[in-house]
Amino acid sequence: MKNLFKNIAITFLVFASLLAIFGFWQNNQAKDNSIAINELVEKINNNEVKNIEIDGSSVNITLTDDSKKQMQKEPGQPFSELMTNYGVEGSALAQVPVEVKKDSSGSIWMITLLQIGLPLLFIVGFIWFMSKQVQGANSKAMTFGKSQVRDSSKLTGKKITLKDVAGMKESKEEVTEIVEFLQHPKKFIALGAKIPKGVLMIGPPGTGKTLLARAIAGEAGVPFFLISGSEFVEMFVGVGASRVRDLFQKAKKASPCIIFIDEIDAVGRQRGAGLGGSHDEREQTLNQILVEMDGFEATTNVIVIAATNRPDVLDPALLRPGRFDRRVTIDLPDINERYEILKIHAKGKPMEEDVDLRHVASRTPGFSGADLGNLLNEAAIWAARHNKKKISQRDILDSIEKVLLGPERKSRLFSDKEKEITAYHEAAHALVAHILPNTDPVQKVSIISRGSAGGYTLKMPEKDKHYRTRSEFIEDIAVSLAGHAIEKSQFGEVSTGPSGDLRSVSQMARAFVMQYGMSDNLAPRSYGHREEMVFLGKEIHEKRDYSEKTAQLIDEEVSKIVNDAYDMAQNILKEHKPVLEKIVKVLLEKETIERDEFAKLADGKEDKSE
Ligand code: ADP
Ligand code: MG
Ligand code: ZN
Repeated sequence: MKNLFKNIAITFLVFASLLAIFGFWQNNQAKDNSIAINELVEKINNNEVKNIEIDGSSVNITLTDDSKKQMQKEPGQPFSELMTNYGVEGSALAQVPVEVKKDSSGSIWMITLLQIGLPLLFIVGFIWFMSKQVQGANSKAMTFGKSQVRDSSKLTGKKITLKDVAGMKESKEEVTEIVEFLQHPKKFIALGAKIPKGVLMIGPPGTGKTLLARAIAGEAGVPFFLISGSEFVEMFVGVGASRVRDLFQKAKKASPCIIFIDEIDAVGRQRGAGLGGSHDEREQTLNQILVEMDGFEATTNVIVIAATNRPDVLDPALLRPGRFDRRVTIDLPDINERYEILKIHAKGKPMEEDVDLRHVASRTPGFSGADLGNLLNEAAIWAARHNKKKISQRDILDSIEKVLLGPERKSRLFSDKEKEITAYHEAAHALVAHILPNTDPVQKVSIISRGSAGGYTLKMPEKDKHYRTRSEFIEDIAVSLAGHAIEKSQFGEVSTGPSGDLRSVSQMARAFVMQYGMSDNLAPRSYGHREEMVFLGKEIHEKRDYSEKTAQLIDEEVSKIVNDAYDMAQNILKEHKPVLEKIVKVLLEKETIERDEFAKLADGKEDKSE
């Protein structure tokens, strides 16, 4: 539609300027030193005319004093006839040389033609154009089976290469191989090696899967076709499959190239799982992908890269040799990688001297590449909003909490009673976390509302952790329950505050028993497996692979763990009640306690230092 208006506007402008030019030209001709017919007649009779030149409808007269005059006559009418009609004496006229220029009365026709023809042309063109537009819309409707793929390497002006991807050393090494396949396929074919067709990138969201795929294409200098799995799942059955066909056709034409299927789990889910209409559609789409990949010849230099964060739900047929048999696993970045990623994202952002990205990296375990990018962006926005010229370390550190918990909501008003409950609640979390030996250190306690939380206790590991031990699990459950425990003992009843805590407690306790085999009273195996069903939205369905009796045992075990952890929390809170009261007092006063001050408070050293 935008195009349509643009085109109309352009046509109109051209037309208008043509009109203007003609008007100007005609005016020009008419205005300068024109002479009236009777004046001319008089001048001819007085022998004041040197010669006359007739050029179509315009008559150019040179007088005896060499001045030039001009007159218009009707085209087609002979000049002599005109003169005689106005009473020129034949003898006088005979003395004036009259020169008739080549009959340019054609030009009058040209002008007439243009004056009539142009608008006509404009109207016809407009109609033609409109009909084309309608056809275009029609044909768009007819081709929605065509994939809406874009060769994104051309779209994103800037070329991304492996240099733009920080960290993930191993993954990058693996993909350099793919770059070589794309660049020098003959080298491999000569040795009888089959070039892999499919590469599956596995990793949590935001870890740079899309980025890496783009970088491969950029590094190899080949086109990059991007399509998202969810785009395949459309309303009409059969569309997905035809899109796949079309996509592969386009890609083969552009070979060597990369097809990137983002979120392949949206189509590549185990066939036969799930209910509802979309499931047939997925199955057909998936089948078509498999058929296309099987149809690649040894010389088809197209590599399909798919990304997912749920490799567990993928159909095994996708993972067979000759399909997505290469895997590239991308993990959340470790501290060094975070440092590298931060450095990349810090480019183009002016920073104060005091900024220490290494320290930022140490404060952000569990952050993905996307989170880190977001963090620096938030810091830049914050600095800009406060009219600073450079980003300071404080801006970045403050943004960590914003990224983690949402923006501060200082305007949310709490009654004194609510504030007191929140202070006790958060102080309890923090104190229990501080006392128990296997929990992460407390970075910050606050009763300022953030996101949906009334207050928060920020714990963060010192180092990156890849595993959690059994004792860490139990202690984490105890920390989560501390809020509930203190509300009950301090106020005699519990508020709705701890509902979020309780949800995570259930999750942790169930995982403890059912996934990790950490319970002493049950055989160390996994119980049940989760399956997502796509049926009127997403639903998690747990498939039971154990008996009713075991189910009961699991419930008992979960309750036991939760109760033990609750006792643990309660005992700590009772034993350290004076310290707790001190923390609450400071919290109500200052609203936020930072790590070092909190450690002093909790260790009871605060009196000496002051
Ligand atoms: P995914 O596809 O895994 O969800 P993306 O590739 O879309 O993640 O990453 C989102 C953004 O996060 C990227 O555009 C990039 O800015 C940033 N990012 C993620 N990982 C890295 C990395 N290793 N190096 C640099 N930037 C990264
Ligand atoms: Mg992605
Ligand atoms: Zn809580």
